[in-house]
Amino acid sequence: MKPARRDWRKAPWVAPAEISALLAPVSGNTINGVGETKPRRPRQIFWARNADDVTHADLLRAVVGRFNGPKVLHEVYAHADRGPRRPVPVAEARAPADAAQLTARVKAFVRNLPGGRPDGYPGTGSEAELVGIAALREEWVYEGKGSGLPFVVVMGIVMDHARLSQVTPDPEHPVSALEVADQYNRGARVANYTAQWIREQGYDARPHAGPWVGSLNLIPAALAAGFGEMGKHGSIINRTFGSSFRLAAVETDMPLMADRPDSFGADDFCTRCRVCTDACPPQAISPVKDWVRGEHKWWVDFDKCIPYFNETYGCGICIAACPWSTPGRAPKLAATWAERKEQ
Ligand code: SF4
Ligand code: SF4
Repeated sequence: MKPARRDWRKAPWVAPAEISALLAPVSGNTINGVGETKPRRPRQIFWARNADDVTHADLLRAVVGRFNGPKVLHEVYAHADRGPRRPVPVAEARAPADAAQLTARVKAFVRNLPGGRPDGYPGTGSEAELVGIAALREEWVYEGKGSGLPFVVVMGIVMDHARLSQVTPDPEHPVSALEVADQYNRGARVANYTAQWIREQGYDARPHAGPWVGSLNLIPAALAAGFGEMGKHGSIINRTFGSSFRLAAVETDMPLMADRPDSFGADDFCTRCRVCTDACPPQAISPVKDWVRGEHKWWVDFDKCIPYFNETYGCGICIAACPWSTPGRAPKLAATWAERKEQ
């Protein structure tokens, strides 16, 4: 029998005092630019390899320390194959090819990189189920960072919905956290091998792979690369996989052809749905849009989300609960809502 769904609106989860005390004096929502009507570049707030680079350094150290607690989770990150870690030199000779040919070749490389989920769900047998390209924009690059490379190849790595849904504070069986770790490791492999291949073709390349955040905010890059629409829960909704995927990327100066954003009615769906807002234990998901660095969009309260994220070794309740993430459901919803959008 399924456990009864708890209504968090009546009694939201409250962070332990010792975690609340680690929140920076400035709200994470202020750092993220909630309420700001003018565009500006994002500021690094969390998940930097060097905690001193971010505003919420004390909280980040505490969260990383807790995540290192469960032995099984620590080992999945520490001992996994994440592909070539040291960049090979950029080859001096470039094979003659135009942007269309190079675009086809880099996408084929990503799609054909062998790997994939051991259980075959629901991927393609490669290390990434989604690949798209965007011309890199400065407003995606964190303040004080940047490579100057003009393109970004974005990859989407699908998660097992059943494992993702098992969010728990139990350090012996952090199932959802392990699933996320496994998929970030796949993302690291595809990003690192793709960067290596691009360098072997005579172009510069810089990989990005979670859980660490590098110089680039990958969500707007993935939206521009055609991965889908921004959902109320702050993650992308894809027309095939819903929100059950992670991102990796490679910045490059290889001349490529950018994809177009994809719009199929998910934003409209979100305005009529409150599944994620009701499912979020600390009530961190705003039910309405607001201005965020010059863009009117959905937003999540950082100060409420991260303490619960810490409690459960990486909460993903909102993306697992989203109706679009149920395996097999997104294509049907996309067909229906795209049709409604055109009427
Ligand atoms: S649960 Fe509903 S409101 Fe939340 S992101 Fe998914 S579709 Fe949008
Ligand atoms: S990750 Fe968890 S705490 Fe954060 S917004 Fe989603 S459901 Fe809420």
